[in-house]
Amino acid sequence: MTTAMPSEYQGFEQGPIRPPSEAYSLLIRVTRNCPWNRCLFCPVYKGAAFSVRPVDHVRRDIDLVHRLVEALRASADGAGHVRHAAYVAIARGTPPEERDALRAAYHWVAVGGMRSVFLQDANSLFARTGDLVAILEHLRARFPAIERITSYARAHTAARKSDQELRDLAAAGLNRVHIGMESGADAVLAFMKKGVTQAEHVAAGRKVKAAGMELSEYIMPGLGGRPLSEVHARESADALNRINPDFIRLRTLAIPANTPLYEEYEAGRFDKCTDVETVREIRLFIASLDGVSSVVASDHILNLIGELEGRLPEDQPAMFALLDRFLAMSPEDQTVFQIGRRMGAFASLDDLEHPDRRAIAENACRQYGITPENVGGVLDAIMRQFI
Ligand code: SF4
Repeated sequence: MTTAMPSEYQGFEQGPIRPPSEAYSLLIRVTRNCPWNRCLFCPVYKGAAFSVRPVDHVRRDIDLVHRLVEALRASADGAGHVRHAAYVAIARGTPPEERDALRAAYHWVAVGGMRSVFLQDANSLFARTGDLVAILEHLRARFPAIERITSYARAHTAARKSDQELRDLAAAGLNRVHIGMESGADAVLAFMKKGVTQAEHVAAGRKVKAAGMELSEYIMPGLGGRPLSEVHARESADALNRINPDFIRLRTLAIPANTPLYEEYEAGRFDKCTDVETVREIRLFIASLDGVSSVVASDHILNLIGELEGRLPEDQPAMFALLDRFLAMSPEDQTVFQIGRRMGAFASLDDLEHPDRRAIAENACRQYGITPENVGGVLDAIMRQFI
């Protein structure tokens, strides 16, 4: 659903999410919510109407951030650092309607280093190419030192842009696109109402790369459930083998209660994989990647093995070793690791050997009676809190 845009400027806006890799980026909202909004597993924009913000409103956001960035930089100390005290002093003189922009500007200046910008929300490429080019040019005129401008895009939308349009966006400064492939298996994509096929994913990914932009593809381990786990792993790898994206990022399935998938799960129409089954699926997925030079990243808190990363093909053996190490553990140790990781006590498999951290996870298992038999239900509840 797309709504009519309010003609009046509503003030500086920030959308609800960004990719984990954009934690240090300035977020500039170009569109609101998601024009598709039907994926069964996705809770983010349900019930919220999609709209494209007028170019002039986005420009006003950029100009506001620019003015606030200049004020913050003018308050920098001799080493060029903007201290929190300076931010607080500026905030006192900033009208309430500009404080979100000031927070964004401060985070970008003091933490992010002002190198990257992420265009929100779920599918900025839905906007007219000429409008996006105007926004990109304005961003770069205001902040000439920006090194990277990125955006989410639906594959369906990217595939419908002409090669020239994608080249125009790249030339205007859009140098990385994040696409949520989630799965390359048509059966999984259809069940999840992703609204795109493997063929469209491959076409979109190739077009983005051919236009000279970096490409991040997101894969969701577990999305096929038990029945489609193997086909999900093999066909996702098959799609990626034909694209060779710059990044393959993993984000394990979780099923929050406010998603249509939760109803399917509760009704017994979706048979969820356990953590151990998901790790086996990831192993098959990595083994099925062939002929790609992508960087694999596991940079999401929902992933069990957070340190699973490296460049293909050379780091494939190390990735197997990590996955096999978990799979070879006793069910009791696997349970302790699953709980410790999701409680935040463990960042990596090595942390299992850390006596204090291990004690935190073991105590939790004892206190709440968590065993290899019931750990799945406990984890479902914990993981819902991360979404
Ligand atoms: S396209 Fe992306 S943002 Fe939109 S519903 Fe699907 S997963 Fe969510």
